[in-house]
Amino acid sequence: MNFVDLVAQQQRIRQKIEEKIRIVLDHGKYIMGPEINELEKRLAEFVGVKHCIGCASGTDSLLMALMAEKVGPGDAVFTTPFTFFATAEVISLLGATPVFVDIDPKTFNLDPEKLALAIKALKAGNASVSPLPGTISQELSAITPKGVIPVNLFGLPCDYDSINSIAKEHGLFVIEDAAQGLGGEYKGRKAGALADVGCTSFFPAKPLGAYGDGGAVFTDSDEMADKLVSIRVHGQGEDKYNNVRIGLNARLDTLQAAILNAKLDIFPQEIDLRQDVARRYTELLSPYAVLQVPFVPGGYKSVWAQYSLLTGSPESRANIEESLKKDGIPTAVYYPRPLHLQTAFTSLEYKEGDFPISEDTSNRIFSLPMHPYLKVNEIERICAVILASLHL
Ligand SMILES: *Cc1c(COP(=O)(O)O)cnc(C)c1O
Repeated sequence: MNFVDLVAQQQRIRQKIEEKIRIVLDHGKYIMGPEINELEKRLAEFVGVKHCIGCASGTDSLLMALMAEKVGPGDAVFTTPFTFFATAEVISLLGATPVFVDIDPKTFNLDPEKLALAIKALKAGNASVSPLPGTISQELSAITPKGVIPVNLFGLPCDYDSINSIAKEHGLFVIEDAAQGLGGEYKGRKAGALADVGCTSFFPAKPLGAYGDGGAVFTDSDEMADKLVSIRVHGQGEDKYNNVRIGLNARLDTLQAAILNAKLDIFPQEIDLRQDVARRYTELLSPYAVLQVPFVPGGYKSVWAQYSLLTGSPESRANIEESLKKDGIPTAVYYPRPLHLQTAFTSLEYKEGDFPISEDTSNRIFSLPMHPYLKVNEIERICAVILASLHL
């Protein structure tokens, strides 16, 4: 059994993928070929925004958005410590300071009430209101709150109405990290369209994955889109030998765009299949109080990048994972160490206990195999092994 089954998907559309690759080999426009524009148009329509700008990875999509917002040294950007490293890495890469905000214990997403507290703490220079990086409490006057990066963790959108309104009140931008979230929905709107800018990743294991790295940025703003297009290719102006700002080489490959165009055809159906898999898991596991099944608030739709369970204790997690492994069923822990406790962020001087929900969750969470082609009998077998290991 596979954690994510890319083979089953490829078997469905292999011929179409080969055709699209052959077309690229024939026209030879490997850099910014026509497939890029086609994909961007289709994705903008899918997400329901005016502009989609393809790029080289999910990490670059976040970096480009922050660069377009002119984030740099002296700026603070609020984000969750319970996410993939890249979310906060790009903030530090630009010389700005990540300020972490703890998560909601049910959704595992950034908690809007704690965001309001963190902004208050930073503005007042008072770390007793919400933990602040050590460097900030010393030189507070030098740090300006600039923006927020909420993450649609495991495919579930955040509470964007609350987050956007808090951000607006304080003049902060909001960048939606929808690297795991493309295909999700919030109150009738699609993930990627839920903040000032939306970012996503086409890493192969993401809900819409390429056969290599790729990403995209979404926005309704013409001005933002122009900046992103420029940043994507070395800060180009009228042409690439007229450079108007410092940028990147962050183009999406034509071949990856061709592959994504083939995969996008079946993506809506795959989203439905993911709902079926998640529903079946929840039906079988929700009767048992020792496991916390994923919580999807009313009006939200998860794309189920991961189906993650919270166990009663770290020991219980270890037992369940061991039993599943013995049965040939792969599991994974996202994420075993919250970002404020990562070695790379020691200079921020956060300490254990600063974000108790993230820390506790990282000790007890694990994820089950999740992909559109998981069969009902496989789901039943996985759940039976879990229940047996809990003596239920
Ligand atoms: C995967 C991921 C990224 C980075 O995407 P890449 O394409 O691997 O660079 C960023 N944020 C989150 C939440 C992710 O899951």
